Amino acid sequence: MTEFELIARYFSRPCTDAAVVLGVGDDCAALRVPEGERLLVSTDLLVDGRHFPESTAAFDVGYKAMAVNLSDLAAMGARPLGVTLGLALPTIEPDWLEPFAQGFYALAEHYGICLVGGDTVKSPVRTLAVTIMGSARPDRMLTRSGARPGDLIAVTGTIGDAGLGLRSIQHPESMPASLNPEDIDFLQMRLNRPTPRVDEGRRLAEVAHAAIDISDGLLQDLGHVLSASHVGAVVETDRLPISPAARAWFAADPTQRHLPLTAGDDYELLFTLPPEQWGTLGISATVIGRITEDKRLRVLDVEGHDMSVHVHGFDHFAPVDLD
Ligand code: ADP
Ligand code: MG
Repeated sequence: MTEFELIARYFSRPCTDAAVVLGVGDDCAALRVPEGERLLVSTDLLVDGRHFPESTAAFDVGYKAMAVNLSDLAAMGARPLGVTLGLALPTIEPDWLEPFAQGFYALAEHYGICLVGGDTVKSPVRTLAVTIMGSARPDRMLTRSGARPGDLIAVTGTIGDAGLGLRSIQHPESMPASLNPEDIDFLQMRLNRPTPRVDEGRRLAEVAHAAIDISDGLLQDLGHVLSASHVGAVVETDRLPISPAARAWFAADPTQRHLPLTAGDDYELLFTLPPEQWGTLGISATVIGRITEDKRLRVLDVEGHDMSVHVHGFDHFAPVDLD
């Protein structure tokens, strides 16, 4: 199969999105940015064996590549406009490409966003580069720098599931024997098929002061908001939203109970908003703390005592211990 046959077969689904003037097939794609809005652009690189275990199903690789990019748009409160896909592949394997494309398109079509272009090359390590474009009104862009003292800190969904899902794959021997198969499936699905909180982000754009998506770990990502906003925070660990599956894990193995503070890959939104907006928010979220003028990040354990925090999430260039 040639490069052009590959593109025609897997990456040329028809696009009817009004935002797309020109899609796959020309030298550039052309997109329409809604009147009065700004173009937002974000890129994520995914490297085989590094960003997903090599055993990850091709469908899930495609799904997650799309999900993490949509999550970046969600964290800005943006609407999706279009996406491009750079593919570096050692060989052309239809058995991998077919389910990969299905996973990629599954989420794209759900959120009404078209694949509008890309590039396809041969390379020893399978690598994906996804660039997503979206738009937002300039006065409704949800940045990391808008948090103010007194804001509540809240998160969507549940935290720590993806980290446990990864642990169950990388260190299956460390899984409590009492976990049932449904719990394990749930945790691994949270790792492999994260839900980008696009609709929540659009709503938050109207009321929140700051937002970020949790990709590298709750405390690390909150840390980005704090430094960009020049504020501090108090986080109460007993308020973290924990799924029943994660609860079952921690009940059997309490040594892992702090994992939701540092584990990455949840792709939930963390945001700050004035307390008076909380009652009318209308999305499902949990308050976990508040923003303070004091620039420290304080983390309180279940008894309300300060925990010493020297934890960091995932940093690709740091000597990391993935445990
Ligand atoms: P160029 O030579 O201008 O880089 P290519 O021959 O690489 O163009 O690509 C032809 C068309 O196919 C372009 O519109 C490009 O955006 C699109 N394309 C190439 N690879 C992909 C891909 N993996 N997914 C989607 N579109 C792709
Ligand atoms: Mg090219």
